[in-house]
Amino acid sequence: MDRENKGPGFGTRAIHAGQEPDPTTGAIMTPVYQTSTYVQDAPAEHKGYVYARGDNPTRRALEGCLASLEGARFCTSTSSGLGAESVILTAMGTGARVIAGKDLYGGTYRLFERVFRDLGFEFEYVDTTNPDRVAAALEKPAAMVWIETPTNPLLQINDIAALADVAHARDARLLVDNTFASPCLQRPLEHGADIVVHSVTKYLGGHSDVVGGAVLTNDEELGDKYAKLANWTGPVPGPWDAFLVLRGLKTLHVRMERHCDNAERIVQWLCSHPRVGKVYYPGLKDHPGHDVAMRQMSRAGGMLSMELAGSVEDGKRFCSSTKIFALAESLGGVESLIEHPPSMTHASIPAEERRKAGMADGLLRLSVGIEDVDDLIADLDQAFAITFG
Ligand SMILES: *Cc1c(COP(=O)(O)O)cnc(C)c1O
Repeated sequence: MDRENKGPGFGTRAIHAGQEPDPTTGAIMTPVYQTSTYVQDAPAEHKGYVYARGDNPTRRALEGCLASLEGARFCTSTSSGLGAESVILTAMGTGARVIAGKDLYGGTYRLFERVFRDLGFEFEYVDTTNPDRVAAALEKPAAMVWIETPTNPLLQINDIAALADVAHARDARLLVDNTFASPCLQRPLEHGADIVVHSVTKYLGGHSDVVGGAVLTNDEELGDKYAKLANWTGPVPGPWDAFLVLRGLKTLHVRMERHCDNAERIVQWLCSHPRVGKVYYPGLKDHPGHDVAMRQMSRAGGMLSMELAGSVEDGKRFCSSTKIFALAESLGGVESLIEHPPSMTHASIPAEERRKAGMADGLLRLSVGIEDVDDLIADLDQAFAITFG
């Protein structure tokens, strides 16, 4: 909050932070420094760049911009969101215990269970919407509490400030995966989180044309460790990818407003639709996490889920019938996407367990893009007509 009053606003930083006109040509946009190495004036006398796995000016500009947007002192960008997560886990070291939310991104769950558990890590999954459950799990010491908010696909809200208190009281750190909200809507470090991780593939890149990740922190020792580990283990982004994300960031604030406007309109329309059982959107007053969401987010975002009053087959038919909403996994791009978690992203979970976790057979997840909202609503309308006749 403070820095908002002292320095330039979010939109100005999204466009300018971390970037200077190119010193050799004056190019206003940071060039794609497509090079693997840098010529030295004399042995070990160089301009701050030695070899491109370690650093690259395009990547450095991206890291400066991301750090400014999250209000972080340190940022390490990576080749993917999971690359950032691998760096964070590697930094914790064998034997580390992590308390994680139950409603985690599937790839994160797979990384925990299929890779790092075999390396001696311990993961316990709890309902992180209830800080008491996290406190109970921390009776046995853990290095980290790892959450997403809002979560996927049920858009549950975790209370960042409350969980930071619980974690810190037991010498654990709180990590927030901020991919769904983006720093435009939510800055976890301001609420007490220690580490923020991003899949920049989603809202930050914003155009579904690049895969990337980032980890941010205010802790100097950790920040230094992440930068070194990205270099030493290798999941660094190439300069083109860094450039594309940097370019995406320049419109983040404008895109997010439109994502939110469109999602709000669609939610309103869905809530009065006879074929819709339930709408999951933290902006709705009857959402159990609404109050917390409005405390830690400036708006409720562009992601929503809805339950069709129907079967798995109806869900599949519906998302095969939309024409503007493309049937695809991923999210956060300018274009609208739809997916059916029970048969796609969450198909590996047995039906009984899925239902117990609150995921209905007819659940659909929408990543609302920034097209004209009337066209999006008309698209959903015709999909209802095709699905239910
Ligand atoms: C996509 C995603 C990731 C993984 O990021 P990649 O860039 O695909 O490696 C992690 N967390 C969340 C919430 C995501 O949506």
